[in-house]
Amino acid sequence: MSDITLGIIGGGQLGSMLAIAAKKLNIKTVIFCDDVDAPAQNFCNRFIYANYDDNEKINEFINLVNIVTYEFENIPYETLNEINKLKPVLPKPSVNRLIQHRLAEKDFVNNLNIRTTRYASIEKKSDIEALEDFLPGILKTTTLGYDGKGQHPIKSIEELNSLNLDFSKGYILEKLVKLKKEISIIITRFSTHKYEIYEPIENTHEDQILKHSKIPAEIDEKIFNQSKEWAKLIAEELKYIGTLCVEFFIDRNDNLYVNEIAPRVHNSGHLTINAFNVSQFENHVRAVCALNQIPLKKLSNAKMINLIGNQISFYRKSPKFKDNEFFFDYLKKDVKEKRKMGHITTLL
Ligand code: ADP
Ligand code: MG
Repeated sequence: MSDITLGIIGGGQLGSMLAIAAKKLNIKTVIFCDDVDAPAQNFCNRFIYANYDDNEKINEFINLVNIVTYEFENIPYETLNEINKLKPVLPKPSVNRLIQHRLAEKDFVNNLNIRTTRYASIEKKSDIEALEDFLPGILKTTTLGYDGKGQHPIKSIEELNSLNLDFSKGYILEKLVKLKKEISIIITRFSTHKYEIYEPIENTHEDQILKHSKIPAEIDEKIFNQSKEWAKLIAEELKYIGTLCVEFFIDRNDNLYVNEIAPRVHNSGHLTINAFNVSQFENHVRAVCALNQIPLKKLSNAKMINLIGNQISFYRKSPKFKDNEFFFDYLKKDVKEKRKMGHITTLL
């Protein structure tokens, strides 16, 4: 057993998969989560259930671990910053603060001369009315959105009147990109100029939730290279340590845009568990724990399908799979509509 204990904030499926990867590397894990039913408690060495502002429990957590990482971005900056004074938090809290705010994130990307959708800050209804050329667009809360939550497609100003928007929250209005495809790049940065980067993954969404991912992505060489370069530039600029995902749009004229950055392992990278010698989760643990870097090798082409809501029930009842199919049940207690419950990766 190594001497490292890794603390992970958040106990969903990403926390579970990080804990499984850590175990393989003989690293112990403590999961801190505000959900008493957090699935990751099935895979870690120790589980602490408390709110993210419970100082007593946070101290208990800090005392048990050597390094802290997180599996989702919506953690209060103050919490991460306080923990970081006592034990290193990776990726750095300042990186998380930047990325958890959609406006700050897009400003950062644009300042690197990387294309994003057109966007504007929205504080009141009349701000939208003054931006008619941004329509059709998508109005998104600047913070706390995921899986399409907090998003409102808006086709016209008339449609705006039927939406009951709460302007105590900040919003961003994005012009709708006429999508040809979506891809993502998963990259792990170890230290200065050292990377493991996976090939572009092609993604399809349904109701703004990821449904399918596959490699290889059917894209031309220019987009293949450009997406990797931009992901590297972003990771380098952030002086990032760990695994990061950059989501991209490709429009009908083959222009590439950065959609958003996830400062963590990502759903589109689940196929890396079966399709590569080192998964995105193992690479994350290796990077944040300063273990050695292993050159990435692809083992197979692959596709992944997310099981959302009650789509999991069929597979739980009759789990019949071929040798090239890998089923993951996240062991979530309640089956809820639009909730990611599991996935199946098929090696091709
Ligand atoms: P989340 O944080 O919920 O993942 P995203 O901004 O990535 O939010 O949006 C989820 C999905 O909604 C995207 O992957 C894409 O399919 C669609 N979408 C979001 N913004 C736009 C846009 N400006 N143009 C076209 N499609 C969009
Ligand atoms: Mg997204």
